[in-house]
Amino acid sequence: MATDYAQFHQRSIAERDAFWAEQAKGIEWQRAPQQICDYSNPPFARWFVGGQTNLCHNAVDRHARERPGENALIWVSTEVGEERIYSFAQLQAEVECMAAMLREQGVTQGDRVLIYMPMIPEAAFAMLACARIGAIHSVVFGGFASGSLASRIDDAEPVLIVSADAGSRGGKVIPYKPLLDEALRLSRHQPRRVLLVDRGLAAMDKVAERDLDYAELRRRHAGARLPCVWLDATAPSYTLYTSGTTGKPKGVQRDTGGYAVALAASMQHIFGGRAGETFFSTSDIGWVVGHSYIVYGPLIAGMATIMYEGLPTRPDAGIWWQLVERFKVSLMFSAPTAVRVLKKQDPAYLSKYDLSSLRALFLAGEPLDEPTARWIADALGVPIVDNYWQTETGWPILSLANHLPGVAPRASKFGSPGMAMYGYQVKLLDENSGEELAEPNRKGVLAIEGPLPPGCLQTVWRDDARFVSTYWSSIPGRQVYSTFDWGLRDADGYYFILGRTDDVINVAGHRLGTREIEESIAGHPNVAEVAVVGVADALKGQVALAFAVLKDPSQAATPELALRQEGEIMKVVDQQLGALARPARVRFVGVLPKTRSGKLLRRAIQAVAEGRDPGDLTTIEDPAALQQIRELLAG
Ligand code: AMP
Repeated sequence: MATDYAQFHQRSIAERDAFWAEQAKGIEWQRAPQQICDYSNPPFARWFVGGQTNLCHNAVDRHARERPGENALIWVSTEVGEERIYSFAQLQAEVECMAAMLREQGVTQGDRVLIYMPMIPEAAFAMLACARIGAIHSVVFGGFASGSLASRIDDAEPVLIVSADAGSRGGKVIPYKPLLDEALRLSRHQPRRVLLVDRGLAAMDKVAERDLDYAELRRRHAGARLPCVWLDATAPSYTLYTSGTTGKPKGVQRDTGGYAVALAASMQHIFGGRAGETFFSTSDIGWVVGHSYIVYGPLIAGMATIMYEGLPTRPDAGIWWQLVERFKVSLMFSAPTAVRVLKKQDPAYLSKYDLSSLRALFLAGEPLDEPTARWIADALGVPIVDNYWQTETGWPILSLANHLPGVAPRASKFGSPGMAMYGYQVKLLDENSGEELAEPNRKGVLAIEGPLPPGCLQTVWRDDARFVSTYWSSIPGRQVYSTFDWGLRDADGYYFILGRTDDVINVAGHRLGTREIEESIAGHPNVAEVAVVGVADALKGQVALAFAVLKDPSQAATPELALRQEGEIMKVVDQQLGALARPARVRFVGVLPKTRSGKLLRRAIQAVAEGRDPGDLTTIEDPAALQQIRELLAG
């Protein structure tokens, strides 16, 4: 048995199948897998081939049988001032009821169901109901606007959409139905049915024959029994769209058995969660953290999970800690940005509540800076565990697995999200030669040798070619998965993340493609050309900055006009993509810095915007373009 983490990790690679066969015992199977990993067609990995299981069975039914009365889903909304607590037995009843509704509407195995919902229990019911009957869910973050939603509808081609009248943010009602109707007007694909939860927050115009009322169907199907459908381990469970370097988001496709095993193992080894305890992740079901660590992971581990609708600062900055005290939360998961927001508030909120139940706080989604880490570590007095991963991987690539029996825990290092997690063969590669940088402290592209471990994306939805060309073809001379992050590893095996190698930016832990924002801005009638870059921001990590060339520059000739033009452009982004993607500033330039072959020099713009040296500019067409940006920002 391994006594040291390096040995444990080494075994997960060298004795891959034996290792994952053991991990597979962490979930219940209807039929045991016949083969642990089929990697006969790289880079496509098929995990637990021949096995049959069900995510909903492992997250709900299994625990409803073993601990029916214990808390499963705790919903708290400070937006509408409501709370609901579901035991595992009650959660199963709700999920069965919703599964029966979907069935009645003709949803069957392999069909897509798109979920566009605020943080309400029905969103989790919908996800679990899909898993129960083998329908593939595709959750779209509620903060996305019609354009983003429409492109996802067209790619997923859902037979049914689950939505609600409205969400609420900071006390302001955000009607969802008009956004959905507008998206359906823009999309080529039309779902057969739209199932609507009416929270009584906003009026809804219902389309006859198409739009269904959730409460009415729920009454009709109350008490319905609908057993889980046993699915092949390799059957897709969901798709989740994520931004890349093109304007078209990618549908990250996840399997069933591999995901269940990966989550069960991570809950045990990385998080150290135990059945009967409470897990509180402050993310949103629209993001991967919400899928893995609000819904599936904690429930699979038999833990109660808190689903929180609201801000961390409302009614006051003590709300999260109040929830920790009330529900005896043992593990919490959040993002550095949220902690930076709390750091600006009165520190008294942190000492006001009894936080003795809390064992650790996990942070992910963006780099964790040392001052933020130190502040929260001192305030809480528990380990702060950084973890690095991506929508694509579904669970941490780098972190600390400090809950392995007989294996000595590792201390964390400020600035490092930790070491390679078991199952991930992480490498640092030279971007140009593809050569492995084995010696410590060398900066390279953080890459993962195939096969990716269980739980990671199987492919890009309906686009195997894009899966291969995007992720497995960027390093010369070798087929290896690129994370598109720069990293380095120190002599102790700890990694440090040094930013993206591509045009993806990270605003408050949310991943955005600059191409997507550029395409949206280019839709404004007066915009000839635009470049969007991410620049460092003390609170949000990064913010988007746009530099636009106007068709009619006189529209921005005075400061007042420029301000109006900027506002108009921001509105276009708000309407198409959502406020999340809105650039912090739009500046108007005469020409954009490009190479002689016409490629936008985004990295040079970013460097100038951050006051850094833009580096080698031998290929620049017009050096004055960069100078203009420098002067604009200085002014
Ligand atoms: P997403 O797919 O939205 O989760 O975004 C994944 C990207 O966020 C990664 O490729 C990194 O660029 C960044 N990221 C996630 N977690 C961390 C972390 N702990 N430290 C630094 N960057 C992170």
